[in-house]
Amino acid sequence: MTTPVSQTSADGGQALRCAPVHHHPSWEEARAQREWGIDTVLAHVGTATDPATGAITTPIHLSTAYSHPGLHQSTGYDYARTASPTRDVLQDALARLDHGVASFATTTGMAALQLTVEALVPPGGRIVALEDLYGGSFRYLEGLSTSGVYDVDLVLGAEGLRRALARPAALVIIETPTNPMMEQFDVAEVATWAHAAGALLAVDNTFLTPVRLRPLDEGADVALYSATKYLGGHNDVSAGVVTVREEVLGKRLQYRLNTTGATLDPFSSFLLLRGLKTLSLRLARHEANARRVVAFLESSPAVSRVLYPGRSGMVSFEVAPGTDVARLLEAVRVFTFAESLGGVESLVTCPSVQTHADVPPQTRARYGLTDRLLRLSVGIEDAEDLVADLRQAFAAAASTR
Ligand SMILES: *Cc1c(COP(=O)(O)O)cnc(C)c1O
Repeated sequence: MTTPVSQTSADGGQALRCAPVHHHPSWEEARAQREWGIDTVLAHVGTATDPATGAITTPIHLSTAYSHPGLHQSTGYDYARTASPTRDVLQDALARLDHGVASFATTTGMAALQLTVEALVPPGGRIVALEDLYGGSFRYLEGLSTSGVYDVDLVLGAEGLRRALARPAALVIIETPTNPMMEQFDVAEVATWAHAAGALLAVDNTFLTPVRLRPLDEGADVALYSATKYLGGHNDVSAGVVTVREEVLGKRLQYRLNTTGATLDPFSSFLLLRGLKTLSLRLARHEANARRVVAFLESSPAVSRVLYPGRSGMVSFEVAPGTDVARLLEAVRVFTFAESLGGVESLVTCPSVQTHADVPPQTRARYGLTDRLLRLSVGIEDAEDLVADLRQAFAAAASTR
């Protein structure tokens, strides 16, 4: 199915022909690639997808409009909101990574959540979600509930989910591990409860990525991502992803996304393709560094509690009384006090005043998110530099005692 775009004619000139620029892998090819190990799939993300040039990396197609060969004819591309070649290459790769049938790349992670909810839940439908989701997701769902557009039930823990799903629902939304309390869920078990309630299960897999968890393989229907985090990995692209297990869900999402328009632009699509290639390498390093940092935190008298799910570079900890949180955040030098995660640089966040500021204090208290809890996104620096930085910051924050 690879049609060359240009052919050398008999007189040596170039005769241009209209043909799809983007090479869609055939079903057999896609299946063969599914047998590859994930490191191979990742390294080959977007490789030589352009038969016109054989370019090894994916070209950035900025064109918003595409010429038609004739009436009722299309190259496969008409208008960039509907489909664009660079985004298509990215979406093919994302679907393959998660063993899904289709992926949709959106402008942000929040847009991915909104797309999922609004495409898959009819007005008035019931949504069951964890109360301790990412703060922005909580704020969005809380708003939907208040405005009465949907019937939203926010619950805590596996027991809360199980009880809420004794009644019918349309959509269940979870994160595992949760953010920042690092509670882990058995996706297969939650999928069983969701399906018994007639609901679809969406898993926000931003923390673990398909390298550590494939929610669709565990029985979930939708995998959601803030690709701004580990998938992009370099703190330089805002994006979201929705990947689905079944064609019918893909059709509903495609329709809704084309209608509402939060599609990812070509340059961001390219940055994401580029970031994905090193995802597995980065994650292994994030985890090795996180283990070293966790060992230090567990031995430090300045720390009263450490939460680490054993995977990813995300570590939460509670600062012991006698250590000044504000001074600690000012004192770090290798870590940066900033509000994100999943990039190569280490960041430290204070969730109660940053990511989760819009979660009411009594709700935060219910699941144990205090003002003394800090969240680290451990980067890929030298682990000993990270530990030394925390050690000196703890010392600086203790000096006022
Ligand atoms: C950041 C984040 C989001 C929101 O993604 P944006 O790209 O910031 O819109 C959703 N879920 C989780 C778990 C996140 O960390």
